[in-house]
Amino acid sequence: MSTISYAVIGGGINGLAVARQLLLDYPDAKVSLFEKESSVAQHQTSHNSGVVHAGLYYAKGSLKARLCRRGVKLIREYCTVNNLPYDPCGKLVVALNEVEEKRLQALYQIALDNEVPKVKMLYGDEIKTVEPNCIGIAALHSPETAIVDYGVIAQFIAQEIVELGGSIQLSSEVHSLTNENGKVTVTLQSGVEHAKQFDYVVCCSGLQSDRLAVSSGDIKTPKIVPFFGQYFVLDDQYTREVKGLIYPVPDPEYPFLGVHFTKRIDGKMTIGPNAFLSAARENYDGKGFSFKDISDYLCFGGFWRFFSAIYPPHYVSPKRCSASRVLLTRQPSTFLRCAI
Ligand SMILES: Cc1cc2nc3c(=O)[nH]c(=O)nc-3n(C[C@H](O)[C@H](O)[C@H](O)COP(=O)(O)OP(=O)(O)OC[C@H]3O[C@@H](n4cnc5c(N)ncnc54)[C@H](O)[C@@H]3O)c2cc1C
Repeated sequence: MSTISYAVIGGGINGLAVARQLLLDYPDAKVSLFEKESSVAQHQTSHNSGVVHAGLYYAKGSLKARLCRRGVKLIREYCTVNNLPYDPCGKLVVALNEVEEKRLQALYQIALDNEVPKVKMLYGDEIKTVEPNCIGIAALHSPETAIVDYGVIAQFIAQEIVELGGSIQLSSEVHSLTNENGKVTVTLQSGVEHAKQFDYVVCCSGLQSDRLAVSSGDIKTPKIVPFFGQYFVLDDQYTREVKGLIYPVPDPEYPFLGVHFTKRIDGKMTIGPNAFLSAARENYDGKGFSFKDISDYLCFGGFWRFFSAIYPPHYVSPKRCSASRVLLTRQPSTFLRCAI
């Protein structure tokens, strides 16, 4: 019997987790992971908030809710077994007025439906028993929401893949995939002479997924529209003022979680993010600029529909401010409202 071969495209946490699981489930299989950068986890995986979300927001029975709860269990086990940092620092979602409190009650019901452990509602001064410097009329407390370093976890998984006999091909950007005679040809940017054939391919190419789909003959949508967010890092002397994670109640009108305090696994405390339309997809310092990335979304009808939905005309004053300034003024006010 010939060995089944799998290619996984993308060395972020998703691609790495898929490759590892394939090797565990099919120890005889040949598993090759292709990553365009010179090391793994250079993109979203090492530029996120590091929160192991507990399932406070996802509708009961939805795939997101089930995956989130299962993911918490798996990631906690993985960190425990491998001695990787996992800090169940807890999270508060804080309501500042009655409208928000009503939304918070709905979140509480979702959290109960999703069997998020030990969640409870706190009122008035009860909030201070968890976060002494936090004020609000009500808060949802999830004491087991945790933080990790996904970049570190990804590096650990990469090491495990190699130990299990898989291969990780770095600096190997995949250009396209072609299906022929029951095999998939993986062609690299470096040219057809480096093309390889596999029985199955799993794509986990993050922010480039839509482009890989198109260059492999798939349709042009959905398309990725990049947003960029900044986080402030608090001075060390203030980090102890906040113990864990503090979030505002999400506003259903906006597709963001709102400005929040996030404890990091290295002990630092961040506040953010704001959100700007980004001038490049892989733009982590805010200085990136790519004509290709910008023209891609400007020429995409879906972007304009999204844009008009989140910036309704009554909200934007064309005379006085650009869309990004609206966000700038909006987000810090959210921050101030939830600030200590
Ligand atoms: C600001 C921010 C905060 C977040 N906070 C959280 C959080 O607190 N908790 C949480 O659970 N999630 C959070 N997320 C989401 C989480 O970070 C992502 O869902 C996750 O990292 C996605 O992993 P990935 O492997 O799919 O993508 P990525 O980490 O982006 O990896 C994709 C990889 O594919 C490679 N690649 C792309 N194209 C090709 C190609 N053609 N050939 C070869 N390689 C290619 C890239 O180089 C990259 O390494 C956050 C995300 C952001 C942006």
